[in-house]
Amino acid sequence: MSEHYKKEELELFRNHQMSFLGRMACQAHLNKCSKCADRLKELSEDDDLILQLRAANQIFESIINEDSARETTCHSSKKTKKTQFGTKRERNVDS
Ligand SMILES: [Zn+2]
Repeated sequence: MSEHYKKEELELFRNHQMSFLGRMACQAHLNKCSKCADRLKELSEDDDLILQLRAANQIFESIINEDSARETTCHSSKKTKKTQFGTKRERNVDS
């Protein structure tokens, strides 16, 4: 077993899309080959980053949505809106 796994193959392994035997072979290889293990680690680190970005994006979007919802329901000035946002954040920290 001299050949290394490609990123695409490790991606399959990671997502449990590999056949049982393929997964066994891959796992056995990963136990012995730090190069491929590192590569797999990189993949999951990329994944974490993507998840973090997605989460950040969701927060961002919910703020935008709340903001535009507020826009239609209340006709207060931008100054008041900012204060409302401030108090909401403080409340979140408390709870
Ligand atoms: Zn390898």
